[in-house]
Amino acid sequence: MNNSLPTARDKVLFTPGPLTTSLTVKQAMLRDAGSWHFEFNVKVKEIRQRILKLAGVTSEKGYECILLQGSGTFGVESVFSTSVPEGGKVLVLSNGAYGERMVAMLKCLRIENTVYRTGENEPPDPAHVASLLEKDTDITHVAVVHCETTTGIVNPIASIGKTVKAAQRHYIVDAMSSLGGMPIDFEDACIDFLVSSANKCIEGVPGFSFVIAKRDPLFANESTTRSLSLDLAAQLRGFEKNGQFRYSPPTHSLLAFEQALNELDTEGGVEGRAARYKRNHEVLMNGMESLGFKSYLDAKFQSYLITSFHFPEDSKFTFDAFYRKLSDRGMIIYPGKISQVDLFRIGSIGRIFECDVLALVGSIQGALTDMGVSMR
Ligand SMILES: *Cc1c(COP(=O)(O)O)cnc(C)c1O
Repeated sequence: MNNSLPTARDKVLFTPGPLTTSLTVKQAMLRDAGSWHFEFNVKVKEIRQRILKLAGVTSEKGYECILLQGSGTFGVESVFSTSVPEGGKVLVLSNGAYGERMVAMLKCLRIENTVYRTGENEPPDPAHVASLLEKDTDITHVAVVHCETTTGIVNPIASIGKTVKAAQRHYIVDAMSSLGGMPIDFEDACIDFLVSSANKCIEGVPGFSFVIAKRDPLFANESTTRSLSLDLAAQLRGFEKNGQFRYSPPTHSLLAFEQALNELDTEGGVEGRAARYKRNHEVLMNGMESLGFKSYLDAKFQSYLITSFHFPEDSKFTFDAFYRKLSDRGMIIYPGKISQVDLFRIGSIGRIFECDVLALVGSIQGALTDMGVSMR
C-alpha cells in the first residue's frame, strides 16, 4: 500500500497510545482558538475541573489538576523535579520500561534514588515496600506505575499507597495508560501525585499531560524547583493567576480533549468505557487462544488494557514480517520489543470495538498463514 492515493480510513491502532480516536474528536481540532483569549481560558478551567471530577476528587479536599504541555513523560518528570526536596530520595518500584524511565529521569535530575525491581511479570510486594521504608529513612517519595504498559501488568497501587501513607512518605503514581479506562480511588490509594495524558484511555490526541496533585506536597518545595518549564507549582500558580498556561498552550489538542471528555460522559464515564475495554480484551484473549497463542502474564495480574503474547515457536515467525503483514491489512500493533522476553503486545484501548478486535484476530490468522507459521 505505497501508492499516494489517500485511503478512505486510517489504519486501526491496537497500540497502547496514541490511540485510534473518533472522527468527532479529530473534527474538534478544525478550529483556531485564541490561546490567551478569555473564552479559551474558560475552556481550560472547565477541562481542569472535569479531570478532577473524573478522578473523583475535589479542590475542597486539597486536590488540583495541572495541565502541562508535552507528552506523558514530561508530566512524570515535572512531578519529580518539582516535588522532591533538595536532599530528598525516591524509591522507584520498577517492573518494566516505564519504571526504568523514572529511574533514568531521577539520574538526569541528580535526585538520590533507590530501585525495588521485580520481574516484568511480578508486581511489587507492599510488605517489602514497608520494610524498605523502615530501613531507609532518607526516602521521601515512592513512585510506581499503575498499569506497566511494557507488559500490561497491573500493580497494586492501593495497598502500596496505604503502606507509603503509614510510613509518612509521599506517593507518586504513573497512571498514564489506565486513568479513564480503569477506576482509581484516590483517597483509598493515598495518592499525592498522579500523572496521565490526553492520548490514552481518555481517547484524546497527543499534546499534553496532566497531573492531579495534593496541594500541600506540591507547594512544599516551591523555592527549590529544578526546572523552569516543568515547574508544576508555577504552572498551577499561572492557572490560578490568570487562567492561562505559562507558555503556548496546545490549543488544538485541548479542543479535541474537550470533545473526548464529552464522549467519555456519553459512554457512561469510566465504568462504561471500562466495560467496552474489558469486552475488547475478552474477545482478544478468546481469539488468540483459539489460534494457539499464549499470553505472558498470570491472569490475576493481567490488565484488560494491554496484553502481551509470546512469539510463536516456529522459526518462520519474525516480528517484522508479522507486523508488516498486519499493517498491510490495515492494523497496527505495538512495534518493537521492550520486554526481556520475546513478546508482542496488543492494546484493547482507544476507539475500537469488539468487531475491530475480531477483525484483528482474523488478520493475525491470515498473516500466520502467509508466513507459513504453524502454531501446533
Ligand atoms: C505511554 C506511557 C508513558 C509515556 O508517555 P508518553 O506520552 O509517551 O511520554 C509513561 N508511562 C506509562 C505507563 C505509559 O503507558
